[in-house]
Amino acid sequence: MTSLLLTGGTVVTMDSRRRIIRDGTVFIEDGLISEVGKSSEVENPHNADLEIDAKRKLLLPGLVDTHVHLAQALIRGCADDTSLIDWLQKFVWPLQGNFDAEDGKTSAELCMLEMIKTGTTTFLESLLHTRYGFDGIADAVKRSGMRGILSKTVMGMGSYGTEKSIMHPGMVEDAETCLREVEAYHKQWNGKANGRIQVWYGARSLGACTPELYSRIAQGAKRLGTGITMHLGEVREDVKYANQEFGKLPAELMDQVGVMGPKVVFAHGVWLTEPEWQILARKGATVAHCPSSNTKLASGITPVPEMIHAGVNIGLGCDGGPSNNSYDMIREMKLASLIHKVRLSDPTVMSAEEVLEMATINGARALGMSDEIGSIEVGKKADIILVRTDLPHLTPPMNPISHLVYAGEGSDVDTVIVDGKVLMEQRRVTTLDETVVLEQASRRAEKLLQRARIKISSKWERE
Ligand SMILES: [Zn+2]
Repeated sequence: MTSLLLTGGTVVTMDSRRRIIRDGTVFIEDGLISEVGKSSEVENPHNADLEIDAKRKLLLPGLVDTHVHLAQALIRGCADDTSLIDWLQKFVWPLQGNFDAEDGKTSAELCMLEMIKTGTTTFLESLLHTRYGFDGIADAVKRSGMRGILSKTVMGMGSYGTEKSIMHPGMVEDAETCLREVEAYHKQWNGKANGRIQVWYGARSLGACTPELYSRIAQGAKRLGTGITMHLGEVREDVKYANQEFGKLPAELMDQVGVMGPKVVFAHGVWLTEPEWQILARKGATVAHCPSSNTKLASGITPVPEMIHAGVNIGLGCDGGPSNNSYDMIREMKLASLIHKVRLSDPTVMSAEEVLEMATINGARALGMSDEIGSIEVGKKADIILVRTDLPHLTPPMNPISHLVYAGEGSDVDTVIVDGKVLMEQRRVTTLDETVVLEQASRRAEKLLQRARIKISSKWERE
């Protein structure tokens, strides 16, 4: 039995009462939280294997990123200030279409390093193409100590909405192979690393799958008891395509083919409308809100407060290296609050507290894991982050949640614990070798650009 004691911190529990415990103590045994309370009330000081002094720190449940592309960390900044179709066709697809398994593994390590260093403990990766090397990536998740859901891409055509066959040939996969691979990877990896790894279906967006293929995905997910994620309503094109081809709204179409329900996560949802919110709410599906990606690519602003009002569960996502370009959930929380205030000319919407719910307990719900993670409660898995409060930008102490969301940044995260294991202490990551990962990522990115014959230009000359 291994045990860990965290003492003297401000515990933001995110339990059903949303209790905040000042001078709190959390005791962890065998990866599970066994006690939470005031330091003065937690009886007889435990003889823990490891004790961490959490004074002047917030203890929060680890952040849950519900929309991540691991393979895009390696192409961070490859397509700034570019329209979506150029962004995809000229940069992102050709680069990803030239990936090999080493690139996939290195990119995943880089991405996870950044996530650990900014307080994310669980993520939902949405589209892993075969060429990125699934086994190498799953093995990297195992080594990193993070909790990761890996969704293997399923597609049948290289189309995007009504734009036929526009994808880079290196990105196009065959439907039968995709379906077989999801089953094989699920068998091999689902539940591995003490349950930290899950394998889901990563359906490609409208245009890349026939309704029949989506139905087979839904049937497969049901049979395996697993989840599905896909991009939906990110662009207006999705609405046009669903209407032209099937006379439906995008979420109506997905409901009809069976891709709807708990453990179904739709990324973006910018152009979904009220009747569709009703379907999502009724069936228990989630929208992964990605405000940085949507604003940088000018996709639009997801009507999140309206969706919440309609009863839709909303998670938060950083999306990817070319669209965000960061995987820092603390920065993402701030934008997730601010853009809705300005859009609705109403500063009372999307409070700091509401945004933190999206990044923790509601993210856990999106993944069907709210009984296991997303809050600091007895019996839950010990996925906990310690965030410093003794910094100029977090002083004076007023409302800790406000400071975290409006003034905080990922680098305020000091210590990260997943499954009761310390992955980072005092900002030093213990599971992945930061120096090696950064060096390999820079080297591989340079080679990838050469292979894809892509030059990243700058508006200013570089000497
Ligand atoms: Zn995405």
